[in-house]
Amino acid sequence: MKITGARVALGPHQSERREVYVRGGRVSFFGDERGESLDLSGLLLLPGLINAHDHLEFNLFPKLGAGTYPNAKAWASDIHRPLDSPLKEHLSLSKLTRLVWGGLKNLLSGVTTVAHHNPIEEPLLRAEFPVMVVREFGWAHSLDFSPDLTERFQTTPENWPFLLHAGEGVDDHAYSEIARLESLGILSERTALIHSIGLDHPGLALVKARRSSIVWCPSSNLAVYGRTLAASVLKSGVNIALGTDSAMTAQADLIDEIGVARGTSELNSEELYEMVTTRAAHLLRLRDGQGEIREGGVADLIAVPDRGQTPADALAELTPELVIVSGKVRLIAPQLLDRMSGIHCRPPHSIRLEGRGCWLTDVDLPSLHAETALALGAEFRLAGKRVWQ
Ligand SMILES: [Zn+2]
Repeated sequence: MKITGARVALGPHQSERREVYVRGGRVSFFGDERGESLDLSGLLLLPGLINAHDHLEFNLFPKLGAGTYPNAKAWASDIHRPLDSPLKEHLSLSKLTRLVWGGLKNLLSGVTTVAHHNPIEEPLLRAEFPVMVVREFGWAHSLDFSPDLTERFQTTPENWPFLLHAGEGVDDHAYSEIARLESLGILSERTALIHSIGLDHPGLALVKARRSSIVWCPSSNLAVYGRTLAASVLKSGVNIALGTDSAMTAQADLIDEIGVARGTSELNSEELYEMVTTRAAHLLRLRDGQGEIREGGVADLIAVPDRGQTPADALAELTPELVIVSGKVRLIAPQLLDRMSGIHCRPPHSIRLEGRGCWLTDVDLPSLHAETALALGAEFRLAGKRVWQ
């Protein structure tokens, strides 16, 4: 496929009008393909975004819990009532369906790669799953919930990242976790600490010394603990990527999360852009060109209206009109359909998301919607937003 007419993002402040060829799921700036083409005049082509933390199967859930909590253990013991409403109804829905909705939440917000924090089950690896799910990583839930934490870390291949919830809370228990992880030998260059709001000065010094990373989920943190990462952490030089967490704690997708990150910090648009592209790719050790548009890189691309803005500034008002995952059009706004020439497999299903817009997708929305409405009623929400077919 030949993409013509677009201004192409080459960095947070760099862009160039050039043709892009998508061949075998990869990007090339050189080619002479005839046949399939897509005219993206008037659009800015950005790299697909990376969501560094989600639990995909929990994105139809309402936000659980009331008020704020001192740590993750207190939150979990308060909300864990699987036999009661609303958990009972949500858990009656097949896990596959719930996982696909989680993929859709990400796709609709321009995410093309997501780090799913739970076992990687076969449906997540299917070509028809809405987005790419990171496969090569080690993980544990947390110190409190993973008695086999050390073994999990030690059996994770050296060149894979190791992800775990850590410092998730605002009490002494949460603050003690960084030192406990250090004593277990878990802090390393490949370790990514999810949340880490319980981080004092010595803890931050340890994270820096071990060159570990942090995944920042501000909406989730604010909803459950009433605060999020301090400016001293955000500006510390530690590599930080942005993640949404699931709807159980954050009724938000990555677009919302970028807005919350902007509103609760002094970070500039370039730093925020990198947190959902190159810094996230570095943290997750993605090596296929995710987070950038480069020769030979994976063709994960999104397009937004070109208002002359920088790629970094485009994230402030992001509503993707097109999302391409591994070279395949997975989401396209109806007004772009006429721009496709020689492309025979147009996405057949329509999808509309509250407050955002409508698109066409190849995800089998009619059966997904029907099964979900049966279990949850027609007014179900995806990370807080109504969704229609
Ligand atoms: Zn989590």
